Amino acid sequence: MPFDLSTASASAAAATAPATLIDIGINLAHQSFDADRDAVIERAHAAGVVQMVITGSSLESSARAIDLARAHEGTLFATAGVHPHHAVELSAAAASELEQLARDPAVVAVGECGLDYFRNLSPRTAQQQAFHRQLELALRLGKPVFLHQRDAHADFVAILREHAAAWRGVAHCFTGSGDELDCYLGLGLAVGITGWICDERRGMHLGPLMLQVPPDRLLLETDGPYLLPRTLRPKPASRRNEPAYLPQIAAAVARARGETLEALARSSTVAARRLFHLPAASQRLRSSLVI
Ligand SMILES: [Zn+2]
Repeated sequence: MPFDLSTASASAAAATAPATLIDIGINLAHQSFDADRDAVIERAHAAGVVQMVITGSSLESSARAIDLARAHEGTLFATAGVHPHHAVELSAAAASELEQLARDPAVVAVGECGLDYFRNLSPRTAQQQAFHRQLELALRLGKPVFLHQRDAHADFVAILREHAAAWRGVAHCFTGSGDELDCYLGLGLAVGITGWICDERRGMHLGPLMLQVPPDRLLLETDGPYLLPRTLRPKPASRRNEPAYLPQIAAAVARARGETLEALARSSTVAARRLFHLPAASQRLRSSLVI
């Protein structure tokens, strides 16, 4: 559904930098992108998604995310972390390997890390230990944290509070209640909004909450290949989500906030760059924006 942001507010656009989007959570190292990863990146750029942060969720996927980021310097960036599903894998030896990965200049955040009591694929005690370790690592490296939480809010917040000293971060794929949002914002976290907000079965509560998120804490992500926005028309043949669909999510969030897509694109891009210390996108990409 291409529509040109520049026509929405031509005079305002002329006075400022072009509006662009940043996908702050894309699992681009996932095997479902192996066959056409370059085409996926090109489609993202064509849709105005000028930079992407690739989620690392295990040592292996973090290493792959770093390789991709190095191959697309200035455009792709990586996180390095161990998802709670993989928490049992984070032995002391693995933790020092993770630290080496996380020190890489292409790595802009530690994570995804956190707690997932929905599936409990790793025992809860292992999840908690892995979470503590990664918060300590983020603090040591001075990098923000990319956080995952599902059905574990109370323990998640308690652990974050223990490490309250200096971390910064984002609660990725926020799908929670107003109380949870208040709590995260009170902790100083940003929130990452996915296509969950486009889901009429389970995401409708998110719309009214969007007004409560300060613009400098509102980030956008596809979480592809997962969470294909259900409002895409025509429906894609594949269930695979990809960064080119980020404008669909941005449009839903902008509608919920009663602001223009262009305004949201600008504020979320500034917020993402600030949290992850990303450079400006290259001129080649900035000049080709059509969302
Ligand atoms: Zn996650």
